[in-house]
Amino acid sequence: MASESGFIPFHRADIGDEEVTAITDVLRSGWLTSGPRVREFETAFAEYVGARHAVAVNSATAALHLALEAAGVQEGDEVIVPTMTFAASAEVVLYLRAIPVLVDCDPHTLTMRAEDVERALTDRTRAVMPVHYGGHPCDLDPILDLATSRDLTVVEDAAHSLPTCYRGRRIGGIGDMTAFSFYATKTLTTGEGGMLTTNDEEYADRARLMSLHGISRNAWNRYAKEGSWRYDIIAPGFKYNMTDIAAALGLAQLHRVDAMSARRRGIAEAYDRGLRGLGAIELPARDPRNCHAWHLYVIRIRSEMLTIDRDRFIEELKERGVGTSVHFIPLHCHPYYRERFGFTADSYPNAGRAYERVISLPIFPSMTEADCAHVIDAVTGVTAMYLR
Ligand SMILES: *Cc1c(COP(=O)(O)O)cnc(C)c1O
Repeated sequence: MASESGFIPFHRADIGDEEVTAITDVLRSGWLTSGPRVREFETAFAEYVGARHAVAVNSATAALHLALEAAGVQEGDEVIVPTMTFAASAEVVLYLRAIPVLVDCDPHTLTMRAEDVERALTDRTRAVMPVHYGGHPCDLDPILDLATSRDLTVVEDAAHSLPTCYRGRRIGGIGDMTAFSFYATKTLTTGEGGMLTTNDEEYADRARLMSLHGISRNAWNRYAKEGSWRYDIIAPGFKYNMTDIAAALGLAQLHRVDAMSARRRGIAEAYDRGLRGLGAIELPARDPRNCHAWHLYVIRIRSEMLTIDRDRFIEELKERGVGTSVHFIPLHCHPYYRERFGFTADSYPNAGRAYERVISLPIFPSMTEADCAHVIDAVTGVTAMYLR
């Protein structure tokens, strides 16, 4: 048992000396909020994902909100969002008084399918928000084709997807706009933070303007020697800018992102080998044409082969020293969406059925081989004990 407490948490952030030094340097520099480190992080991030522009903000939620605002989503418009996602994806639609139209997922990958999007289209549809669940890309080509033919904006929720490739291209430079999360548990963290990427200069300019009070011209620089006190308010914007402290952390993490990603892939491969023989456990989907960020390693229990349900399986893993999570409680199962839109548990059968069976196992770069073996032993032990 490699972890000292004998308990392997669901997640532990991977922060090294480079991160600590980078933050200390910012604190000593006297410039704490958006400044040179933010610009540097934006440039490096845009280059890494292959996008022309990147706007650093304080969360992926902020990035998604800014993206829909830049796309011109207005009151009464409809935005198609998968039900198998986190709260943020749909709430940003509601911020703009638009309507999130939920769709079901592919039963295998748990990502959005073009055929479901097509069925949900109406005259009021303005945008589509594919979510690359767990770090597995959505099948984007048919969604992009549909969006082009219907003049819809595609805003990707890539909170799980640094780095993910779809058919050889990195997520971040493919759809109209893409939002990344640097929340504490994500594959790159700044504590809290996010990035909006796009190849469209107008979208980037609008998002940048709205991310800082709708104030024109480099307002972030107004307290520096070369800055000016004069500014114009062009629109009622938001307060979504990233700090230099967060950006310094992000830059240090970006230097290690490929190494951290390789480690995640190694853990996923160890799980694949260790769990493949268990008939009662379904392994996560993958597609050899793409690369997976392995933000999440989601197994599904075949409940019909076991005498316990998913909730009990999680308790049993906890007793064996393994922390887990569930991604996600589909949006249509939550009180707000149920009550407002009249959904029932089986409104979206694929997502509903997946929800009852999914368990996200620990997967983070500082896990050791012994930690992986511990998790595999625990899953194997619970499965063997409760096999029907
Ligand atoms: C984490 C997450 C977000 C929100 O990210 P924040 O940076 O915390 O705002 C959005 N969508 C999905 C799918 C997520 O998992």
